[in-house]
Parts: sequence; C-alpha cells; structure tokens
Amino acid sequence: MNDELENRAKYLFEMNEVEAEAAMRWTSEHECTIPRWQFWRDANYYKYPSFTYSFTPTGVGDAVTISCHCGAKKDVTDYSSW
Ligand SMILES: [Zn+2]
Repeated sequence: MNDELENRAKYLFEMNEVEAEAAMRWTSEHECTIPRWQFWRDANYYKYPSFTYSFTPTGVGDAVTISCHCGAKKDVTDYSSW
C-alpha cells in the first residue's frame, strides 16, 4: 500500500462531548415520519435502519450531520470548538 492510501486508511472521525450529547438528544427525540411498524411487516426487526453520521472535514474542524432514513437531518457540529 502506498503512503497516501495508508494515511487515508488511518483517518478517524470522532465527536466531542458536546456533539455526542446533541446527537443522542436528537436521535432519541426525533419524531420520524416513517413509523417503525413499517419495517416490522416482514418480521425482520433487524432490518430497521439506524441513523447515518456524516463527517465533513474542513480546515478548522469536522462538521457532523446526522441523517434519518425519513430524510430528516440534524447538524450537531460544535462550532464553538472551531
Ligand atoms: Zn426519521
């Protein structure tokens, strides 16, 4: 593996405490427009989708956005840390 690929493979994203708390709050309070029973109809509970965490690197910090399968999104970036 060349150096550039190796460095990219080691790149990690993380949320700070403020972002993690905001993420936990939003994912637990989000009123989804797609009720869970719609995913239970095929009797496969584990197919219920989870939230997607998107990290966008910038020159001053990583922006963090959470997306739900219903299309709702929440920016939980702690801009005070930038
Ligand atoms: Zn939703």
